Amino acid sequence: MTPKKSEISVRPPAFLYSAGLLHCEGASLRKLAERFGTPLYVYSAGLIRERVRAFDKAFRGFPHTVCYSVKANSNLSLLRLLARMGCGFDVVSGGELARVQKAAPRAVRSVVFSGVGKTANELKAALKAGILLFNVESEAELHVLAECAAQLKKTASLAMRVNPDVSAETHPYISTGLHQHKFGVPIQQARALYALAAKQRYLRPAGVSVHIGSQITDVSPFGEAMERVAQLVRELHGDGHAIRYVDAGGGLGIAYQDFGNFDFVAAVTKYAGTLTKPLRGLGLHLLLEPGRSIVGPAGTLLTRVVYEKTNGGKKFVIVDAAMNDLIRPSLYSAYHEIIPVQAPPETAYEQVDVVGPICETGDFFARERKLPATQSGDLLAVLDAGAYGMSLASNYNTRPKAAEVLVDKKSAKIIRRRETIADLLRQEL
Ligand SMILES: *Cc1c(COP(=O)(O)O)cnc(C)c1O
Repeated sequence: MTPKKSEISVRPPAFLYSAGLLHCEGASLRKLAERFGTPLYVYSAGLIRERVRAFDKAFRGFPHTVCYSVKANSNLSLLRLLARMGCGFDVVSGGELARVQKAAPRAVRSVVFSGVGKTANELKAALKAGILLFNVESEAELHVLAECAAQLKKTASLAMRVNPDVSAETHPYISTGLHQHKFGVPIQQARALYALAAKQRYLRPAGVSVHIGSQITDVSPFGEAMERVAQLVRELHGDGHAIRYVDAGGGLGIAYQDFGNFDFVAAVTKYAGTLTKPLRGLGLHLLLEPGRSIVGPAGTLLTRVVYEKTNGGKKFVIVDAAMNDLIRPSLYSAYHEIIPVQAPPETAYEQVDVVGPICETGDFFARERKLPATQSGDLLAVLDAGAYGMSLASNYNTRPKAAEVLVDKKSAKIIRRRETIADLLRQEL
């Protein structure tokens, strides 16, 4: 029996009940769990495509490139899917660059490279690869980039990542646009750094970049940041720099809760209006670096109940996934909706903590959550786990990493094999 909407949140369009069982597109999650085991990450190709299209449509009036932020979910198959849709990529390490080179070699010319601690080796790898833009985050990095470029005799197009000193309402660990954060250079110092860069034979100042944080649901800080960036671009044009790109970063939030009332197309349309308004008439090409808003809702972590127990009147549902698979609840106190794979009959709900097997009190997915009664062996789906889920997974407690499956309509393909304990031990002496 399919539960009423008021009882269980149903997440259109990728994860829906059909004949009483939760599906990802046309694939039954119960069948996927039987075939591939748990814990298992399941992604919807259809929803990822839909999200990219929504971005392209919202920004259609402004020259732009969607440079998907690889750190949100870096699986090679997902990168390939995104490259086929015309995406470029935002990378923050040599490892992420190597992923793009492997998954989508032709997309390398649409790569932007961000990060406060790029090493000379990473910069050289990106110069050799021929990426679009280096987002430089300090004067020290500017000097190292100039040296690397001169050594290789390759010109580096760069943007200074400026810190606009705007505050975004989000978790303090993922807010990045205030002057006390480690990211970027103070916007007041940017002009001097562009002047310095322009004197270097192998550096070409080509853009301005900004990224104020993640999971931002109110668009006004984006607007404030863009006003400041637009003013800087005018000054830089006046100084004679051929600034062609504005990289607006990522950060658009998704609805982890109350998603029944959340309209993504409306949100991204509003976001597009807010970003582009201050930039009109400046002859710019906009680069966007969304991560979470593309892949977050497209992924679910599927897990099986191992045990149930009651301690001091408190009920615990112990599942086979843990904080090593999905650390967001532990790290950011993040909320993830959890729903049963088998739609429950209209029985009692109980208040439980959903926890993993790891030896940490912080190893939980939900606390004091009202869930339909479960028993050991039942399958649960932790929703909105497509971003910062697998990409933050670890091997803590010597737990092999989960497998990943990509669903496209009725087809379900393994896109990362389940790690084995032998895989884990192999690197050690
Ligand atoms: C993390 C990050 C992003 C992606 O942020 P989302 O919130 O996932 O959209 C984009 N750009 C930079 C520089 C980042 O560090």
